[in-house]
Amino acid sequence: MSEWSPQSWRSLPKYQMAEWEDEAVADKVFAKLGKLPPLVQAKECDRLKSLLAEAGRGERFMVQGGDCAERFLDCESERLETQLKLILQMGMILEHISGKPIGKICRVAGQYGKPRSKPTEVVEGLGEIMSFKGDNINGFDPKDRKWDPQRLLEGYWHSAATLNFLRGYAANGDHTPVQSIEISDLKGSEHAASYTADAQAIAQKPLSSEQLEFFTSHEAMQLDLEEALTRAVGSKYYNLSAHLVWIGDRTRQLDCAHIEYFRGISNPIGVKVGPSMKNDELKDLVTVLNPKKEEGRLMLITRYGAGKAEAMLPGHIQAVKESGVPVTWQCDGVHGNGVVASNKLKTRCFDDIMTEILEVIAIHQRCGSVLGGIHLEVTGQSSVTEVVGGSMNITEDMLLQNYETYCDPRLNYAQAIEATFRVANEMPS
Ligand code: PEP
Ligand code: MN
Repeated sequence: MSEWSPQSWRSLPKYQMAEWEDEAVADKVFAKLGKLPPLVQAKECDRLKSLLAEAGRGERFMVQGGDCAERFLDCESERLETQLKLILQMGMILEHISGKPIGKICRVAGQYGKPRSKPTEVVEGLGEIMSFKGDNINGFDPKDRKWDPQRLLEGYWHSAATLNFLRGYAANGDHTPVQSIEISDLKGSEHAASYTADAQAIAQKPLSSEQLEFFTSHEAMQLDLEEALTRAVGSKYYNLSAHLVWIGDRTRQLDCAHIEYFRGISNPIGVKVGPSMKNDELKDLVTVLNPKKEEGRLMLITRYGAGKAEAMLPGHIQAVKESGVPVTWQCDGVHGNGVVASNKLKTRCFDDIMTEILEVIAIHQRCGSVLGGIHLEVTGQSSVTEVVGGSMNITEDMLLQNYETYCDPRLNYAQAIEATFRVANEMPS
């Protein structure tokens, strides 16, 4: 394999990346980004790697969650606090019930670039326009769909503000709301009494600093941006825009740009593994991405869809075993379960998400493998109606009440808490 550098991805085929019409403007943006201070520290990335190593051995469980597409307009204190509170509470529930320490990874402070199944979409009255690619690339408003490199700088400032606020809040904020898990919207559940008892028990325990610890992550899709935020630290290179970056299911082709970029950075990394992944392909992929066989380096995030794991996961587990490469398995219960509602809104069914996670837990157990975490798209906002089902019984008709997402539908606060309780109660000890 030829020598790696932060730029070596450039000569390879690339998918999903925006291209910049005005090269002079883009060059200026990247020169500036290359000089701005890193958002995270290499030592923090190494710590996350050690937590992921524990999760790979079954000594810890990871929860990764947040928006599908973070929005610049949501960079405000109430929203951010609510989002972090939910992820921390998901960790507290899992820890209380399973007895395992939990690691928390937020899809936050940089989740601004989206791969799309189609580059364009047809909008009534406007005809064919560019698809929304995330606030880093273009605007959601149909008139703002032109790709604009200046937005990458906007993304950096929003990431910095987000991270500054969340780190300060975790260290020195009023954590009373974090300890109050709200279950009033789950009254309809047959398990409401046990949820109440667990929430009360959690509220009575003092919060530890580890319970308030969180890490950041995003899909590193736009590689010129990621390259600009990649820094040499001693003899290694880290992407210091987030603790963990992942490769999406649409950009994981061997011998292409994303795999090349990721193989050389020292962060812990994730790869989405969807139903089109072949066993041999996975074997090659884990070998390229984790050649030194480091524990905690590589998280495989499976997202097959409810009812599909049985046909895929045992073969994938076997392929990874044969490769001899250690991985941390995570189950993304959402991305294989997209459906279009009768009113054309993109949604997911709560039950499909639960079905996939419970199937994946059982398969890992049966195959002598370890599920090290879950991955969900969630919002701390209680009033959001994007996913149907759950004890709140959100119906298709209710989706329009508060459908905010610019991309994929997210579990709202109560749905996320309910899903967490269900997983916690099914987790192997
Ligand atoms: C995502 O995590 O928002 C995403 C696009 O996932 P995937 O690459 O698994 O489709
Ligand atoms: Mn998504």
